[in-house]
Amino acid sequence: MKPQLRITILYDNTAWQKNLTPDWGFSCMVEFSGRKMLFDTGAHADILANNMKTLGVDARDMDLVFISHDHWDHIGGMAVVQDNPEIPVYVPVSLNTEGEHFRDMKNLIRVDAATRISDKIWSTGELKGIEHSMALCLPDDEVVVVAGCSHPGVREIVKAAGAFGNVTTVIGGLHGFDDYDLVKSLTRICPTHCTQHIQEIAELYPEKYIPGGAGKIFEF
Ligand SMILES: [Zn+2]
Ligand SMILES: [Zn+2]
Repeated sequence: MKPQLRITILYDNTAWQKNLTPDWGFSCMVEFSGRKMLFDTGAHADILANNMKTLGVDARDMDLVFISHDHWDHIGGMAVVQDNPEIPVYVPVSLNTEGEHFRDMKNLIRVDAATRISDKIWSTGELKGIEHSMALCLPDDEVVVVAGCSHPGVREIVKAAGAFGNVTTVIGGLHGFDDYDLVKSLTRICPTHCTQHIQEIAELYPEKYIPGGAGKIFEF
């Protein structure tokens, strides 16, 4: 059966595929519900562009960009889409849209409350004044969450994404996360990028843990 959802990590602190460059930051491509979406852009456009090229991913194919929060290691690669200034870019309302990476973009969508991108794709809305996450609604009420750094707290994010269904999966940076009981409610977890406690999560939940890294591809 053809997968419904494919997520390809393009930029991460570690490299899953050894022909890709690891670097502090996060970006992934989310292919879902007829759309190709660039989630965050890592720290450096040249590294992102190179990793995309190696993976056969073309920035011109993207339908939209989703920026989780205004940190250098998530916005630094925006130049990969700058020759398409009309592309919709979803940003949290706290992001500085006058910053160098955004001021030339013509279609910035500033997200405050939970926002519908399509029937099956939502932003949680900006949480704790810093960051929003992407919620992907699969069949059977299943929700997959993609998070940049999880600064608002994973529990807050899962709670907000719970408005769209039953959160089974969290993928991304889980900064400071040590609320391990929360993982009991999930089916899968991919703690990567800035997650400090990857080892603990992997040891506590070996059947749920999925390693990340640039070049890792998830298909659900
Ligand atoms: Zn951050
Ligand atoms: Zn980060």
